[in-house]
Amino acid sequence: MKDHIETLCVQAGYRPETGESRIPPIVQSTTFFYGNSRVMADLFDLKREGFFYSRLANPTVDALEKRVAALEGGVCGIGCASGMSAVLLTAMTLCEAGDNIVTASEIYGGTFNLFSSTLKKFAIQARFFDVDAPAEVIDALIDEKTKFVFAETIANPAVAVLDFEKVSAVCKKHGVLFVVDNTLATPVLCRPLEWGADIVIHSTSKYMDGHAAALGGMIVDGGAFPYRENPRYPAFNTPDATYHGLVYADLPVAFGTKCRAQMMRDTGAIMSPQNAFYTLLGSDTLALRMERHSRNAERVAAFLAAHPKIEWVRSATLPDNKYYALAQKYLPNGTGGMMSFGIRGDVSACARFMEHLRIATQETHVADVRSCVLHPASTTHRQLTEEQLIAAGISPNLVRLSVGIENADDLIADLDQALESV
Ligand SMILES: *Cc1c(COP(=O)(O)O)cnc(C)c1O
Repeated sequence: MKDHIETLCVQAGYRPETGESRIPPIVQSTTFFYGNSRVMADLFDLKREGFFYSRLANPTVDALEKRVAALEGGVCGIGCASGMSAVLLTAMTLCEAGDNIVTASEIYGGTFNLFSSTLKKFAIQARFFDVDAPAEVIDALIDEKTKFVFAETIANPAVAVLDFEKVSAVCKKHGVLFVVDNTLATPVLCRPLEWGADIVIHSTSKYMDGHAAALGGMIVDGGAFPYRENPRYPAFNTPDATYHGLVYADLPVAFGTKCRAQMMRDTGAIMSPQNAFYTLLGSDTLALRMERHSRNAERVAAFLAAHPKIEWVRSATLPDNKYYALAQKYLPNGTGGMMSFGIRGDVSACARFMEHLRIATQETHVADVRSCVLHPASTTHRQLTEEQLIAAGISPNLVRLSVGIENADDLIADLDQALESV
């Protein structure tokens, strides 16, 4: 019997023994006791599962890893210090100097910088495609040095919806891994592994925690990718000298094991037990919250679309949005709280609107219980000229809105009164 997502949100990841704490305890310890050196040797040889040092694994982090892996339908989760470290560790596990990543250009700004400039310093190249481009465009970018294809389920901040089947078919044809950042959809609204993805990444700092309390990231290994005999992945199907000739492709969890045993060992970019605990608490209510975020966003988007002072609204909940059909297919239960819209007016009109908001506050964060807004042209991107803004896909009148779980009537009334100031 397979439990539904609502059940997994509260039950998966941790089951106490008689007399143990009902919820996962915060195991605030760097190290773990073993009375027997044979057991420790087996741990170091990856022959036995267990904890020995919190730079590699920790019981509180483990509970969250098991929960998110269950939610996504994967075989293993790896808790990371942040969403960015989850993306970095994935790239480091798969790529070497001279390799390349084929990625959608509509991705989170931090990931864009990591791929286009930081990884470039290690001779790993990023090749970008427009997420709306036909399959042939993606196909033409892949060569024998491509280690993975990357995209976001719902792009932050472009709110584009990924056509999984289009990208997955190209990846299957080439025998190349398909890695999806599922942060803004969450497994409640979409499970990428069911649509052909091989590895799923999260910034748990967003909806997964949901309270803007804890930074974190997660990598979920789908566990089904055929590395064996695939000439693209020698690091997985030839012996690893640093582990007595272990061949990762022979293990039940090839990617997850390699990622933890090598990259987590070498970087220490693991989630802290305290942050794992907060994220576990937050994720208990993930299914409830995503339902409310989605319903609220639908109503707010419809209100804004009908408002005379609004020029355009970008939200896949609107039937005239170019991603509406993809959202109906891949996100039938809702698209979460993210949207953007353009105010009829200049930069100062937008600033006035923002200052008059009573409920939604100005923040760079998105995707938590409280509604928040950001006007990139007067804040994060204020050093750019109008031409540069447009080239970056940010019109000067663009406002990004992350709809929270407040009462939708209150949110709409607040937006309405703030628009009167425009
Ligand atoms: C925020 C975000 C990240 C980065 O996560 P951090 O936890 O802030 O490091 C990566 N991808 C997406 C889609 C995000 O929204």
